[in-house]
This record gives sequence, C-alpha cells and structure tokens, in this order.
Amino acid sequence: MTDDPRSAPKRRPETLAAQALGWIDRASGSVAPPIYPSTTYARGEDYQLLAGRTYARDQSAAFAQPEALLAALEGGAAAALFGSGMAAATAVFQALKPGDHVVVQENLYFNVPVWLRQWAEPWGLEVGFVPTGDVEAIAAAMRPGATRLVWIETPANPTWAVTDIAAVAGIAHGAGALLGVDSTAASPVLTRPIALGADIVMHSATKFLNGHSDVLAGALVTARDDAFWSRIKQVRALGGAVLGALEAWLLMRGMRTMHLRVRRQSDSALAVARHFRNHPKLVGVCYPGLEDDPGHGVARRQMQGGFGGMLSLRFKGGAPAVLAFVARLEVFVRATSLGGVESLVEHRGTAEGPDSPVPKDLLRVSIGIEHVDDLIADLEQAFAAI
Ligand code: PLP
Repeated sequence: MTDDPRSAPKRRPETLAAQALGWIDRASGSVAPPIYPSTTYARGEDYQLLAGRTYARDQSAAFAQPEALLAALEGGAAAALFGSGMAAATAVFQALKPGDHVVVQENLYFNVPVWLRQWAEPWGLEVGFVPTGDVEAIAAAMRPGATRLVWIETPANPTWAVTDIAAVAGIAHGAGALLGVDSTAASPVLTRPIALGADIVMHSATKFLNGHSDVLAGALVTARDDAFWSRIKQVRALGGAVLGALEAWLLMRGMRTMHLRVRRQSDSALAVARHFRNHPKLVGVCYPGLEDDPGHGVARRQMQGGFGGMLSLRFKGGAPAVLAFVARLEVFVRATSLGGVESLVEHRGTAEGPDSPVPKDLLRVSIGIEHVDDLIADLEQAFAAI
C-alpha cells in the first residue's frame, strides 16, 4: 500500500486494476479513493505550491489515480485524461504543426475523419487516407521526413477490421513518424499497443474503460514522456477539454472491474458470433474471433485472452431488414455507443447519415455482461420475426 500510485510494485494487471494500484488515502484511511473537486490548489507562506499543482485545467488532483492506473495497464510512461474520446484523439493531431503530413485509416470511428476533413485539413494538416487494415497501403502513403504521424484503429469500428500494430509501427518509425493507435475496442485487457511499438494509445474511455455508459471521457497513454507528450499536455491545458472530478472518479471505479467485464463480453461475443455466423438471413458476421475472419490471424497474435465485445451482423435484406430486426429486439437496447454492461445495437448507416461509408446492411452489436443465452435467444426470436 502506498500514497503514491507511481511507486506501486509490479503486479498483474487484474490486481493493479482491482486495487486501484493499492493506493490508500492516508489522511482518512479510505480504501475507496476520495473525489477531488477542487479547481484550485493552495500555496504556502513561502508562496510555493503545497503539492505542485496550480489549477485543475492544467493538473487536476482528480486525474492522478486513473491516469497512473491506465499508464500501468498500457505499459506506458504517462497517461492523460480528456473530456471525451474525441478530445483525446484530436489533441494528438493538434500537437502537430500546419504542413505536417499524417496517414490515417479511412474507415474507423467516423467522427475522426469528419474532424480531420472539416478542421485539421483547413488548418494546414495534410491528411493521407488509406484503406483500413491494409498495411501495404500505409507503407505506400508514407512520405519519409514529412509524415509525422500514422493513426490506426484496431479492431476498427464498425467492421472490426484488424491492423497489424507491430508491422505499422515498423513502417512509421522507418519513415521517422509516430504511431497512434485508437485501442478503444480492444481495451488494455486484450491488447497493449505500446508493447507492439505504438507511441501513443488512445481510448474513448466512455466505452470499455468505464463500462457503465455513465461517463464521457477520453484518454491518451504515451510510450515516452518526451517533447511531443509535453505538447499534447499543453493542448489539453490550453484548449481546456478536461474531465470533471466526478467523471474521473467514476472512470476509476469502472476500471477496477474492467478485466472481469471485458473477458465476459469477449466470451459472449465469440459465442454470439459463432452461433449466427451461418444464419440464413445474414450475409455474414464481422468478428475477428471467427477463424475465417480476414483479421483473425493478426488478431490471434496481437490480442490476448479474447477478441473483444464488439461484432457486426450483415443482413441479406439490407437496411429494411436491419430496421425490421432491431424493432423486434427485447433484451438488446437500440442505442449508440458501446462497451457498457448492457448490450446495445446500432444501425450505423442511420446514425452516420447518407454520406456514411458503412454498408447499409450492417448492424453494430455491443455485447454486455448479461447471460449469453438470453442474448442469443433475443437475437433468435428477432430473426424468426422478420
Ligand atoms: N474512438 C472510437 C473507436 C469510438 O467508438 C468512439 C465513440 O464511439 C470515439 C473514438 C469517440 O469517443 P467519445 O464518444 O468518447 O468522444
């Protein structure tokens, strides 16, 4: 037990998470962490800061514990929390300079390309979009000396295409660029991108990290506490897209049960994917845990202990069949987002609008922690009704 989470001894990730790095509040003896709502921090009579903090936009005390735990789980040098996953992702691009070139996968969480096209390109970033999962396309798009960042998401929302992180890290570093990985769908339970060569790992902490659909949050983890990381921290401090104290506390609380949740969600997702893979009303099931999935080989190498709680169903009847199907569901909730304890379905074509590149016959499924037999039965009865 220690007051300083950074000095916690090396233990397995489950233990670190369950015990919140063994950080006991010495002042009160509290096992559960305190909530730190203060926005400002005192100075002593000598006008020195009492605890090295000035103001919550720069360095909130509420962030120390969840950031330390996430950095430990990802095997990184440091972590930074943001007010949302989008705030975290965009901070990485904002830390670059106008004229810098970046290579980005085109089919990933759709608002990242939308933001890049609408804000980053007009601001001066040069963006080369490449097909998701295609490592050779990344290699071909690199401009050695000019490309500063490669950005991938794996498994990628909502087709769950898998990208070989180690291969892309080799390509990025060979051209003098950094690799950023949106690892939201994998979570640190299943993939540790930094060990595979990534420089920055990003999470929509709204999803599996928190896991209860009650916190909007984002996080970055860095392999090195270097000049680029300082710039990212400056983007956060000056731009001000920070997390509130209660949200940071709830996120910490969520992460303590993450391993149990994510393993259960992965096991159930695999069972659902296997059960429906040859369903006569489906074109197919997108899930990297299926042996015939195009990403299965890479996923087996870079994901440990499961393939995640996310899958997508492709319907023979297109969007009308998807919408008729979801209307019949009784256990699955029709709602956006993913990674929570409750199972959700979403027709991304409807959510993303007419310009969406997502196939209209695709239904995204986020598997929760309910009994898997209830989930399969609910999907079965909805299939029977259409
Ligand atoms: N990355 C992925 C893979 C996501 O699924 C999402 C949200 O769905 C985001 C980033 C954006 O995160 P947030 O909604 O927390 O801003």
